[in-house]
Amino acid sequence: MGLATARALARTGREVVILEAEAAPGQHTSSRNTGCIHAGMGYVPGSLKSRLALRGKELMYAFCGEHGVAHRRCGKLVVATEPEQIPGLHAMMKQAEANGLFDMRMLDPAEVREMEPELRFAAAAHSPSSGIVDQHDLMQAILGDAEAHGAVLALNAPVVGGRATGDGIEITTGGKDPTTIRASMVVNAAGLGAQKVARAIDGVRPESVPGQVLTRGCYFVLRRRSPFSRLIYPLPELGHAAVHVSLDLAGQSRFGPDTEPVDRIDYTVDPGRAAFFYEAARSFWPGLQDGDLVPGYAGIRPKLNKERASLNDFVVQGADTHGVEGLVSLYGIESPGLTSSLAIGEYVTRQLGAA
Ligand SMILES: Cc1cc2nc3c(=O)[nH]c(=O)nc-3n(C[C@H](O)[C@H](O)[C@H](O)COP(=O)(O)OP(=O)(O)OC[C@H]3O[C@@H](n4cnc5c(N)ncnc54)[C@H](O)[C@@H]3O)c2cc1C
Repeated sequence: MGLATARALARTGREVVILEAEAAPGQHTSSRNTGCIHAGMGYVPGSLKSRLALRGKELMYAFCGEHGVAHRRCGKLVVATEPEQIPGLHAMMKQAEANGLFDMRMLDPAEVREMEPELRFAAAAHSPSSGIVDQHDLMQAILGDAEAHGAVLALNAPVVGGRATGDGIEITTGGKDPTTIRASMVVNAAGLGAQKVARAIDGVRPESVPGQVLTRGCYFVLRRRSPFSRLIYPLPELGHAAVHVSLDLAGQSRFGPDTEPVDRIDYTVDPGRAAFFYEAARSFWPGLQDGDLVPGYAGIRPKLNKERASLNDFVVQGADTHGVEGLVSLYGIESPGLTSSLAIGEYVTRQLGAA
């Protein structure tokens, strides 16, 4: 989100500095996800997730086309694996329309068999505007465009403090070369570290910072050629999380992510979770053989503590809530954050009155 927002601000002609704690950008959630361009079907209509996913998807396809970012509009099948899930599939179609997504349709069984011959299903719906993107390529291209408009990236520059000065905000970085910079606008897009950054800025009302619940999602990778050419999203069975199939641009399939609360940032994939993946995947792909799956990678969702229902959405917080003029803090930017990134950049720029 930091890169997309920096790009949007730089394109308005402002001087922009991106402060990154790590030695390279994109070491955390933005490179540890499914890489799906979501169509925008499953959100609360009118929520930020819904609006920014739909807008973000359009911006994403246009940006990838213009900047040569590897991506594919491969489509997605949403699958009821059991007959009792079919009403859920119809409800999901209705929800998609309530979100403003009108290109989905229920498929005839013969069409499903032709599209994905190895899929076990009771019914399936097709989302033609879902796709995949190479996240690394995307981040490089967004950074490149931000830099082309004058933005500067400072690496190994963790934000450790800040304060409102009356005519701007002073931000202090740590690391080997600590420094203090003054800005008229600051965007806290630190992902898993957003709460820590907000608490380090004097003047931010502590009660405005929402609690965070780190939730790891692991992937297992298929060792052989993918049997599917589209994203496969089974509906969850009652009481069980569903495992999705996604593809990368080289055609490799990965299964996941699963869901596991963790108390710190730890990207280890426990090989012992394989049993869960095999069982979940065989519900829609009986052709999966023992030994086909190997541990892949993990990402951590920056979920919010749901003490308020409004926290089941992206939180884009301005001075009216946290008290520091010129500061916007982003919290809970979980999925569909990648899809929404360019739209979030646009939205934050407007929030700051900088559009
Ligand atoms: C398992 C998983 C699957 C997902 N799948 C999808 C998907 O298919 N499609 C989709 O649209 N979305 C998906 N998402 C969501 C998406 O990945 C995120 O919404 C998005 O990447 C969040 O980006 P971010 O910039 O907020 O966080 P990050 O990418 O984590 O960036 C935050 C940056 O801030 C830096 N930072 C942290 N603290 C400091 C500090 N103190 N000072 C300076 N810098 C700091 C970090 O080093 C990092 O570079 C998925 C997420 C997960 C976890």
